[in-house]
Order: sequence, then structure tokens, then C-alpha cells
Amino acid sequence: MVEPMPDATETILAVEGLRCGYGRAEVIHDLDFKVGQGEIVCLIGANGAGKSTVIKAVIGLIPTWSGTIRLCGRDVTQIRTSTRVELGLGIVPEGRGVLPQLTVAENLLLGGYVRRSEPWLADEMDRVLGLFPILAERREQLAGTLSGGEQQMLVIGRALMSRPRLLILDEPSFGLAPKIIDKIFEVVTELRAGGLTILLVEQNANVALEVSQRGYVLDSGACILSDAAASLRQDARVRDIYFGAG
Ligand code: ATP
Repeated sequence: MVEPMPDATETILAVEGLRCGYGRAEVIHDLDFKVGQGEIVCLIGANGAGKSTVIKAVIGLIPTWSGTIRLCGRDVTQIRTSTRVELGLGIVPEGRGVLPQLTVAENLLLGGYVRRSEPWLADEMDRVLGLFPILAERREQLAGTLSGGEQQMLVIGRALMSRPRLLILDEPSFGLAPKIIDKIFEVVTELRAGGLTILLVEQNANVALEVSQRGYVLDSGACILSDAAASLRQDARVRDIYFGAG
């Protein structure tokens, strides 16, 4: 049932036996998953399945009760979020969160803050703006005046400014029109073509499985199915339960 990564693939993120939750309530029960170099892997599942909770643990926003989280081979389970970012985590949080009173360019520079001493930071801004021409046009505009889709692009661009090894996208399609969602996922596909590794969390299983190589289906905090994205798309259980959201 589980589609293994090819053996030669370097593991960028390895989560083993993850248990975590809120207060005394365990939400994630003994979860294992991996993301290999150059893959897009999605976590899909209905509302409340536990996707965002997994991401919070991977990022370090909630403690891991048991299990391990390895980033690029290093055990980061007990390490704080800012250090995980320095080690290569790029985060695009649910609900976007641009700084509305700062310009597009200033928002991008904030994303490069952990790399502020690196000489290539200015070039990085040009590279990111090259990926998103609409942001280049609006470089000096206040972020709060951008459309929802443009703000989503800005937050992806901001995460790219730290040159992450793993980009985590939490519900990037949320609240966006279908045309804009297509544009965002075109960019995600381009980023992978450029060698970036991506963990994608989506309620919209349909679009997530189109761009991903593999997927894990969560239900009530446990993985109930894991396979190549193409197989999951054909799986009647996935179609019946989740495509309603897509
Ligand atoms: P959605 O797609 O709606 O974001 P999800 O799959 O990301 O859903 P989670 O947000 O991880 O699901 O929620 C999983 C469970 O954890 C739910 O039962 C939810 O009520 C609970 N939960 C989430 N956040 C908290 C919190 N801060 N405190 C207590 N319980 C929470």
C-alpha cells in the first residue's frame, strides 16, 4: 500500500512515531511520513483530520510528545522554530499573514532575515521577483493592498528568501478563486522543477494530488492511506471521502 521513495533519494524530512496534541488530548497518533529531495508530498484529509497539527509539530509551534522529526538528517524534535528555519525550513502558514503596512519588497526582505549576513540576499530578491512578475510590478506597493492571490504569492516568495531545503505550504488554496489556485500551483510545480522539496497540506485533495508525487491521507490524526499521488487519485476511498472538498 505504501509507495516507497526510491532508495537513492535523500530524505529531507523524516517524521517517525509522531504523537502530539493540545492540553491532554492527543490529536496525532503515531504518525510516520517522509519527504525526499525534489518531491512534492501532500498531506490530505477532511476538516479536522489533523493536518495543521502535524505541520505545527514539524515547525516546532507545538511540542512533540513522542517520536522524532528529522530535517536533512538532523534530529530537530527538541529544537526551536527559528533554528529549524536556519536549518532549512521555509514556512508558508495557513491564512497567509503578510505585513499589510509594509511594502512587497519589505515583506520579502523579512523572509531573508535569517540569512541577513549573506552577500547574495539582494540577488535572492531579484530571483524571487522573477518567479512572480506581478510582485515585481508591485514591489513598492503596500502588501495590504494586494489581492488574496497576490498575498499568497508574496508569502511563498517570503519563505523562499531564506533559500529553504524544504518548503511547507499550509492550505495555499484556501479562500482563493479556481483561476488563482491554478496559478499558485503552476508556481509550485515550477519550484519543484527548480529542485525544491515541498510538503503540501491541503483540504483540496484534487489539486494537491495533481501536483504531488506522493500523498498521505489523514483521518482522525492517523494515516489511513499512503501511495503515489496518481494511485490516490484513482482510489475510491479518497474520491468518496475527500473530493467533496475539491
Ligand atoms: P483544517 O483543514 O480544518 O485546518 P486539519 O486537518 O488541519 O483541519 P487540525 O486543525 O489539525 O485539522 O485539527 C485536528 C484536531 O485538533 C481537531 O479536532 C481540532 O478541533 C483540534 N485542535 C486544533 N487546534 C486546536 C487547539 N489550538 N486547541 C485544541 N484543539 C485543537
